Amino acid sequence: MDLIQRISEVYKKISHAAMRAGRDPSEVRLLAVTKTVSPQMVKDAIDAGIRLIGENRVQEAEKKMEALAGEIPGTVSWHMIGHLQKNKAKLAVALFDLIESVDSLSLAERIDRYAREAGKMQKIFLQVKLSPEETKSGMSPEELERDIADYLGFSNLKLLGLMTIPPYSPDPEESRPYFRRLREIRDRLIDAGYDLRELSMGMSGDYEVAVEEGATVVRVGTAIFGERVY
Ligand SMILES: *Cc1c(COP(=O)(O)O)cnc(C)c1O
Repeated sequence: MDLIQRISEVYKKISHAAMRAGRDPSEVRLLAVTKTVSPQMVKDAIDAGIRLIGENRVQEAEKKMEALAGEIPGTVSWHMIGHLQKNKAKLAVALFDLIESVDSLSLAERIDRYAREAGKMQKIFLQVKLSPEETKSGMSPEELERDIADYLGFSNLKLLGLMTIPPYSPDPEESRPYFRRLREIRDRLIDAGYDLRELSMGMSGDYEVAVEEGATVVRVGTAIFGERVY
């Protein structure tokens, strides 16, 4: 299969999963994860219709954006999806349309400050960790509910939703409870009057389950670009 076929296949599976769940497929956006992928391949994916790109390292993203300068339509958005160190926050604000991996108030404060200096409203998601035994980054649901008003209070941050990465399992059904839990947390926040509707959840192995459970953004790498070579 070539790139266009693989992308079409992913779109088709997203549509079917949405319809199984009684959702409108247009509520779900495909974010192509391009870490380790060459600039030329990123360009090919964009030519094939991809409009959301995800990178997990600030410097790698910067290099790729420089290599593609002038070749990318303005309708393409770049999302930061990896753990963000505070000392990279300034560059992340300069590069990314949206930072999905905000996981602490101190990081949010930094991003807000740099966004203000840059005269930018920085879109963000909050990364939530639903499995305490994991070493992954992300705030606990308790921290989220405690601090949500603070995250919404920053003048230069626009909080649009939540992101999660469940523990890895080869069985996508193992991810379902995590996806469902993130959606329930989001729904409770909406009921409490907070306007944050986006749910970034699901990767190559489990994005169909994530769509069934309410994902509005699925982050797919391998299923589009093949196995990563580091
Ligand atoms: C790499 C990565 C993905 C994509 O993983 P695949 O299994 O290749 O689809 C999604 N989200 C994050 C945060 C990642 O780092």
